Amino acid sequence: MYRRILVAYDGSDHAKKAVVHAAALAKAFGSSVCVITVAVDPSQASLDKAQKIASEAAEALKSQGVALEEVAVRSGTPATEILNYAEEKGVDLIVMGSRGLSALQRLVLGSVSQAVASRARVPVLIVR
Ligand code: ATP
Ligand code: MG
Repeated sequence: MYRRILVAYDGSDHAKKAVVHAAALAKAFGSSVCVITVAVDPSQASLDKAQKIASEAAEALKSQGVALEEVAVRSGTPATEILNYAEEKGVDLIVMGSRGLSALQRLVLGSVSQAVASRARVPVLIVR
């Protein structure tokens, strides 16, 4: 059913859970998985940090025996970059956490998951 799954990973606890779900689905459906981490700005320091975060998810997926297709690091507005990358790769499922790294816990959904869920053309699995 899902040939290619995208996990949006920011290193948060919810994103870690999203990786677990993506791995389970990939194994069940024989899907390949792409990872994206969006850096807050295009500075080398931010990109290096994002690369390190993305690698964490990649390692977790590989250790689960998942077919890792690509690990992408971009900079820009996270939701926009996630949606553009999803289109580019032609993924058929996006998996992400309900919350991220922000300390503000007043909202049920973070702004990135909210925006991706509203605008994506493919199903979005939001992991709590
Ligand atoms: P907000 O950022 O709106 O203050 P938040 O940080 O709690 O709130 P989100 O940023 O929406 O919540 O995070 C929800 C999920 O979106 C994360 O678990 C992760 O899957 C994804 N995500 C958020 N930021 C990024 C990012 N920079 N790169 C990749 N994925 C991200
Ligand atoms: Mg956030």
